[in-house]
Amino acid sequence: MPAEEMYAKMKTLLRNVVPDVELRYKAELADQINRLKVERNAVILGHNYMEPALYHSIPDFVGDSLFLARQAARTDKDIIVFCGVKFMAETAKILNPGRTVLLPAIKAGCSLAESITAADVRLLKKRFPGVPVVTYVNTYADVKAESDICCTSGNAVEVVQSLHSPTVIFLPDEYLAANVARETGKHIIFPTLGAKRLEFDTSLDYQMVGWRGRCEVHEKFTVADIRAVREQFPDVIILSHPECSPEVVAASDYSGSTTAMIQYIERTSAPHYLLLTECAMGDNIIAAHPEKPMLRLCSVRCPHMNLITLEDTLKSLQLTRYVIDVPEPVRLRALQAVERMIAIG
Ligand code: SF4
Repeated sequence: MPAEEMYAKMKTLLRNVVPDVELRYKAELADQINRLKVERNAVILGHNYMEPALYHSIPDFVGDSLFLARQAARTDKDIIVFCGVKFMAETAKILNPGRTVLLPAIKAGCSLAESITAADVRLLKKRFPGVPVVTYVNTYADVKAESDICCTSGNAVEVVQSLHSPTVIFLPDEYLAANVARETGKHIIFPTLGAKRLEFDTSLDYQMVGWRGRCEVHEKFTVADIRAVREQFPDVIILSHPECSPEVVAASDYSGSTTAMIQYIERTSAPHYLLLTECAMGDNIIAAHPEKPMLRLCSVRCPHMNLITLEDTLKSLQLTRYVIDVPEPVRLRALQAVERMIAIG
């Protein structure tokens, strides 16, 4: 598609979101990326948190981490470019050892993935022998390798229920775990790491064991924010991601994964919607559905997702950088946990 055609396509969607001067520049970049993508037999996967000009121009598939993991598992391309963060690119590599997986910005991490190590999981397994470990996909490969099964925010409840186990270790997101515990009627404890020992009140009755990891974006939304927005917009429908605190989720009208939130907005009609998640997703919904009145709290941004740009994606394809590798013994163990999740849905 020549740059002019790409510009026209992007203009149709983004005319109210991206000013023309930037749109022309970005259409040129997107055109170069799409040509190189064909030349190099690559597929581009784009997470829902990508900025609108990237999201609506270069990905072959856009969606949440579960959908993109599924697409990664199905691709027959030589190269997978992951416009998302490192743990997502690692998941693509776990599923595709024979393909080159590229992440456009090597520093695109995640506070949840950083919150737990494989040694921490081994310590938990030692303290709670025989208890199955469910690990959120927002973790690095070596942590997945210590797990029985992975989950996403879209299937966490189903995954926990599928284990039919009286107790489950659920890592590392404190808030997602607490939201799942509430939904499944389980009582959850959060052991703390003392001098190489896990400490918790042993007199408590519990069915879930959590960890104190948090998403640095979603933890910032508060019930006070919700109250203030409802006061100004009494007819607003508030949607929160399950990485938000249980109090915020309880004060919202709907909570779900990024894809579930998009689908909710598509099938409903409200005078205003407020999304409590990465701000770029609101821009992407406005571009696709200009008739939906979106409110956003954009002072809270994900510093990792925002590192992925069209410029770096072009460089990634030109220079074959940054290649994501996972040591084979780790990959094989992590693969079991990821495949078990994909089989559940
Ligand atoms: S939004 Fe939160 S969970 Fe997602 S990549 Fe950023 S820090 Fe990680």
